[in-house]
Amino acid sequence: MHEAVAVNPWAMLAYLVSGICFILALRGLSSPASSRNGNRFGMAGMALAIVTTLITHAPGSSQRVCPIAADCWTVFTIDWISAIEIAGAIIIGGGIGIVTARRIAMTAMPQLVAAFHSLVGLAAVLVAIAAYLNPQAFGILQPDGIDIFQSSRIEMGLGIAIGAITFSGSVIAFLKLNGTMGGKPIMLPGRHIINLATIAAILILVGLFHLDTPGLFWAIAILSFVIGFLLIIPIGGADMPVVVSMLNSYSGWAAAAMGFTLHNSAMIITGALVGSSGAILSYIMCRAMNRSFISVIAGGFGGDSGGAAGGEAKEQRPWKRGSAEDAAFLMSQAEQVIIVPGYGMAVAQAQHALREMGDVLKAQGVTIKYAIHPVAGRMPGHMNVLLAEANVPYDEVFELEDINSEFAQTDVAFIIGANDVVNPAAKTDKSSPIYGMPVFDVNKAKTVLFIKRSMGGVGYAGVDNDVFYQDNTMMLLADAKKMVEEIVKAMAH
Ligand code: NDP
Repeated sequence: MHEAVAVNPWAMLAYLVSGICFILALRGLSSPASSRNGNRFGMAGMALAIVTTLITHAPGSSQRVCPIAADCWTVFTIDWISAIEIAGAIIIGGGIGIVTARRIAMTAMPQLVAAFHSLVGLAAVLVAIAAYLNPQAFGILQPDGIDIFQSSRIEMGLGIAIGAITFSGSVIAFLKLNGTMGGKPIMLPGRHIINLATIAAILILVGLFHLDTPGLFWAIAILSFVIGFLLIIPIGGADMPVVVSMLNSYSGWAAAAMGFTLHNSAMIITGALVGSSGAILSYIMCRAMNRSFISVIAGGFGGDSGGAAGGEAKEQRPWKRGSAEDAAFLMSQAEQVIIVPGYGMAVAQAQHALREMGDVLKAQGVTIKYAIHPVAGRMPGHMNVLLAEANVPYDEVFELEDINSEFAQTDVAFIIGANDVVNPAAKTDKSSPIYGMPVFDVNKAKTVLFIKRSMGGVGYAGVDNDVFYQDNTMMLLADAKKMVEEIVKAMAH
């Protein structure tokens, strides 16, 4: 006979409410206009889940005391050492979180996100280890060991496997995005066979985990750490955005699997929400990159000839240099200007100056639109966040499929710190690492103004851009913020 697991109905209700808060958070985060409220719902849901867990799992013991037969009550004795340990962990972890959030530069967000995913994976692994070594403390010990049905050893096996893959994969993603490790894909010979064999071995071991054979748990953990590493090293270049959202999804499934093991509905709900929203984001990113999900995780796209953050423009071809005054004149004469921001705008923190420039042009009767590519910058939504921070009106911001056809009828395409997302090689050059990715047709605009710092610098995928050398392109070589400030000054004269 197995003992029934006691469920506190109030805790279940509180977890349900926190789950609803997380759903409202995701809904809010789907649009820049409602994203602040979305964040608030997320914080409220997490606070409620943490407080509920602390109350229902308060460290200590309770004892029923009946000094007189008819008069009984429960005495709860707090285990102060555990309480101090928990408080200490919350203060240290929360403190590190606050300091990191305040100090982090917007350009370093992608690697921070990857680092956070690695911590979620590591947490799932550590909880699984703790539950495996001390099942009694987690309330999952049955007379015949950790129960296969109620305490779900299979889910524990899945939790440790996905958690370990998330951890080692995210560490590699962090090192690549941080530039500590080259962004170029590393292709091991026979990698597909090694990967498939390792994944098959993990699945078989997870299936056998209910047998309670010694060593199975650690074998799953070690193989999963290895496969996380092997899966991410061959991915590089322009595929990194998909990797980040994919690891986000894995971290959710790891938490959900551990939630099943520990009978914690908040972990199940939250993990499933993170897992499914990350999977949907990966799908959207794959569609934006014109790639199939399988080909991304199989590795190799975006790097055979390129590699992140490196390389030089190969040829010396004629190009035209312009000044802030030229740009100010051309835009003041235009009917419509489409602004294409990219990673360089984030580096220069030029979004406020850019909004000011837009305001000046609008006051002169020029229509201003912002074109946002799904993988512009270094994280999903990077450009939207920066433009929202600078109070750019949301109705001026358009997605790729909604605005791309307008370049042909536009007087000026103003490219500020973007490169890969406006590179026509993605459509014309089959050997290019970005071939197949949809890009803005900026080359069709009457005039292209292109801000970057030097002709030698290339975008993330490391490839030269034909737009630099077009007759209708004027290169504005300077730091993006400085150049836009000078254009605004020139417009005032
Ligand atoms: P790119 O990385 O292609 O180009 C950035 C451009 O900005 C470069 O040409 C650089 O040239 C210029 N630049 C850098 N600093 C400054 C500055 N201070 N002032 C002016 N210009 C500057 O950016 P895109 O946004 O076009 O493309 C994003 C790329 O990143 C894609 O390949 C995408 O796949 C990849 N990626 C995207 C992620 C995401 O989730 N969005 C995550 C990881 C990768 P110069 O050095 O000469 O100034």
